[in-house]
Amino acid sequence: MKIGIVGAGSAGLFAANELGKTFGSDVKIKIFDAGPNIDDRTCPQKSEYECAQCDPCRIMSGVGGAGAWSSGILNLNKNIGGNLEDLCSKANLDINEIMNQIDNFFVANGAPNDIFDPYNNGGDLKQLKRKCAANDIRFIPIKQRLLGSKNTPKVIKSIVHQLGTDYDIEIIPNTRISTFSKDKTLTFEKGGKEQFDFLLIAPGRWGMLWLANICQKLDIKTYYEPLDIGVRVEVSSIIMEDICENIQRDPKFHIITPKYNDFIRTFCVNHKGYVVKENYEENIVGVNGHQISLNGESETSNFAFLIRQHLTAPLEDTTEYGRSIAKQTSILGGYKPLVQTLGDLRDGHRSRQSLIDRNPVQPSLNDYTPGDISMAYPYRFITDILEGLEILDNVIPGVNNNSTLIYAPEFKRSAKKVDVNKYLESKQVENIFFAGDGAGLSRGIVAAATTGIIAAKGIINKITNTM
Ligand SMILES: Cc1cc2nc3c(=O)[nH]c(=O)nc-3n(C[C@H](O)[C@H](O)[C@H](O)COP(=O)(O)OP(=O)(O)OC[C@H]3O[C@@H](n4cnc5c(N)ncnc54)[C@H](O)[C@@H]3O)c2cc1C
Repeated sequence: MKIGIVGAGSAGLFAANELGKTFGSDVKIKIFDAGPNIDDRTCPQKSEYECAQCDPCRIMSGVGGAGAWSSGILNLNKNIGGNLEDLCSKANLDINEIMNQIDNFFVANGAPNDIFDPYNNGGDLKQLKRKCAANDIRFIPIKQRLLGSKNTPKVIKSIVHQLGTDYDIEIIPNTRISTFSKDKTLTFEKGGKEQFDFLLIAPGRWGMLWLANICQKLDIKTYYEPLDIGVRVEVSSIIMEDICENIQRDPKFHIITPKYNDFIRTFCVNHKGYVVKENYEENIVGVNGHQISLNGESETSNFAFLIRQHLTAPLEDTTEYGRSIAKQTSILGGYKPLVQTLGDLRDGHRSRQSLIDRNPVQPSLNDYTPGDISMAYPYRFITDILEGLEILDNVIPGVNNNSTLIYAPEFKRSAKKVDVNKYLESKQVENIFFAGDGAGLSRGIVAAATTGIIAAKGIINKITNTM
């Protein structure tokens, strides 16, 4: 029996581990990844670890997936990262057990023992919850384990080593799959093919367009998911200190905006971190945030402030819509992210470099264009952002200051969701399973791992029933 896995990210690795635990080396498992092996990634800036601030580090993927090059925050909460509880219960699995299993596996492979538990961090969680409740904000307390940018590659290395030595699982880097077919054959871009009994396709966001394309060719149904679009907000770190250091490292606040009833949320909070430029694709730039840099801690904290937007006919393609806004913003910024002070955005002025230079909050990103985000973003989104920050200021005083920096574009493309059964097997093609962010089934390291485990359980059921 042979199982082929596309993508050595969180979903692929955890699926492989589950399969290995059950079958040992009795079933041959191969994982293919388009990117390099964990040891072979080198940063042109010659940092010891990936700096995640230059294009080669950020665009490329590789063994360990996108999570390997992140600050590695493990969100240990069933409400974060997708409909995990629902997915697990359909597959007769207990979400809490699965999350513990994932967390324990990371710890066994070298993840730090410390955990950020909002209920036990010494901060005044009750007071924060009271303020949130009084201002119609939903705060999601999450137990989080922070691997840290430096540890994450070491943890991945240990997992890869364990899969190889314990279960003889082969992880094959630098091998991009150009297509897969209904008869479970993988075609390699560099030439050759290999047929398997089961396929698990887990290509992450890096491979989501590719995946949607192949699904269309194979008549595997996919659905558009909502778009997450917004800005990155940067403030003096002292403003976030109490919450980030004493309650929750990456606090999640959910708000419904008054005018449009839109859902807006904080995401990817980088306390004392850096804003980084991304190249979403040619001629489309964007921003993201990163926790640790070669320069050490910054004096600012940043977070994404994202609006969730569903679209219906005639334009259901949320990625295309997000891309068109990001493109417009990129053109206005001369292919650099736009930066504007919140004061200027509110007052309808373009920010000038001279103003940014004397702004109390200094940008942690160097490569930007001072500009006017309202020239690029729809009125509805600007309204949502201004209203959202005003409300958030009741819980994080100072976030709505004139000196707060707003960066655009920031959007998280949603993968198209593959039509799968309760074990994440295609409803149209038997024995092809899907997992992770690229199939629209998860968002985040732990969530992707959860879907990998569910898919693996599906494959295990099928194999054991035929044995
Ligand atoms: C900068 C950054 C920071 C992040 N920080 C966090 C965080 O702190 N906490 C958190 O929970 N999440 C974080 N995330 C998100 C997290 O990394 C992802 O949710 C998670 O890695 C998804 O896992 P996955 O297995 O679905 O896909 P991935 O981890 O993306 O892995 C997919 C793999 O598939 C490979 N692949 C794609 N297409 C092909 C193909 N055709 N052939 C062969 N291989 C292919 C890719 O090379 C990749 O290695 C971050 C993401 C980024 C980009």
